[in-house]
Amino acid sequence: MAIGEFELIARYFSAIGSARQIDLGIGDDCALLTPPAGHQLALSIDTLVADVHFPANADPYLIAQKALRTNLSDLAAVGAQPLAFTLALTLSNADENWLAAFSRGLRDCANEFDIALIGGDTTRGPTIVISIQITGIVPTHQALLRSGARVDDAIFVSGTLGDARAALQSLAVTSSQLNAQQQFLLSRYYTPSPRIALGIALRDIATAAIDISDGLAADLGHILERSAVGAIIEPEKLLLSVALRNRADAIDLALHGGDDYELCFTVPQTKKNMMQNIAHQLALPLTEIGTIVAGDELFARATNGRTQPLPRSGYSHF
Ligand code: ADP
Ligand code: MG
Repeated sequence: MAIGEFELIARYFSAIGSARQIDLGIGDDCALLTPPAGHQLALSIDTLVADVHFPANADPYLIAQKALRTNLSDLAAVGAQPLAFTLALTLSNADENWLAAFSRGLRDCANEFDIALIGGDTTRGPTIVISIQITGIVPTHQALLRSGARVDDAIFVSGTLGDARAALQSLAVTSSQLNAQQQFLLSRYYTPSPRIALGIALRDIATAAIDISDGLAADLGHILERSAVGAIIEPEKLLLSVALRNRADAIDLALHGGDDYELCFTVPQTKKNMMQNIAHQLALPLTEIGTIVAGDELFARATNGRTQPLPRSGYSHF
C-alpha cells in the first residue's frame, strides 16, 4: 500500500540537521525559533522544477543537494550564518526509493552546514517541484548588500567560473561513461559549494556582494545597478578549472554561464591586502578581476588594452 502523507513526513523529513537554536520543529502548525540578540534574520526562497532546473530522472540525492546548496548560497552572499529551512515538495507519486535518496541528500547537506529542517508542505502534482525557504542570522546591519559598491573598489570572485554551465553538455550521459574532468564538472553543477565561510569573513570588508547564479556578467550587473556604478573587468584574469582551461569557449562560459554559486564582491583598495589571508585560511582562490568605475556600464578590457562593452546576458551559445 502507498505510504500516507504523515508517515512519509515522519520517515523522510523528521530530524534532519541539528535542532540547536530551534524552539519547535516539525509537527505543529508553525515552527518556532528565537533569533539571537543583536542579529537580523536573513530569509530567502528558491524553487527547482523538474526538467527546468534539473533532469526529472536525475539522482534524487543530488537533486536534494542542489536544492539546499543553491539556497545556502543566498545566505552566503549576504554574509549570514545558516539556521533553518522549510521544504515545500510536490511529487507525482510517493516513490520510496526516490524519497529515501532525496532525504539522504538533504540530511548530508544539512549536517555539513549545520542547518535544521523545521517544517514544510507535501503535495501531489504533475511533476517534481522543490521549494526551499531558508533562514539565516547575521549581526544587525552587517549583511552584505548589492548596493554598497563604490568607485575605485576592486572586484573579486571566488573559486572558478563556468564549470556548472560546461557540465550541462554531460547531463544526459550516464555517470559511468564520464571521464574524471566531466565528473568534476557535474559535481560543480549538482553540488555547488555555498561560500558561507567567505561571506562571513567578508562582513567587515566587502562593500557589496552577490552569488553568481545567472553568470558573472549578469550578476555583477546587478551590483552595478543597485550601487549606481560601472565596472571594467579583465576576462583574462578569470580563474578557470583544469577541466575548462583548454576549451575555446572557457572565458565565455566563465563570463556568461550560470549555476556556479561562487561569490562576486567588491573591496575598497585599502582592504585589498586582506584577501590573500582570507583565501589562504579558507583554501579558496580569490581573484581580483577588475575595478568599479563611475557611470553605469560594464566593460571588458582585453590583454591588448582594448576596452569594449560587455553584454550582461547569459551564455550565448545555447
Ligand atoms: P498544516 O496542514 O498545518 O500546514 P501539514 O499537515 O502540511 O501541516 O504538515 C504537518 C507537519 O509536517 C507540519 O509541521 C509541517 O511543517 C511538516 N511538513 C510537512 N511536509 C513537510 C516536508 N516536506 N518537510 C518537512 N516538514 C514537512
Ligand atoms: Mg496548520
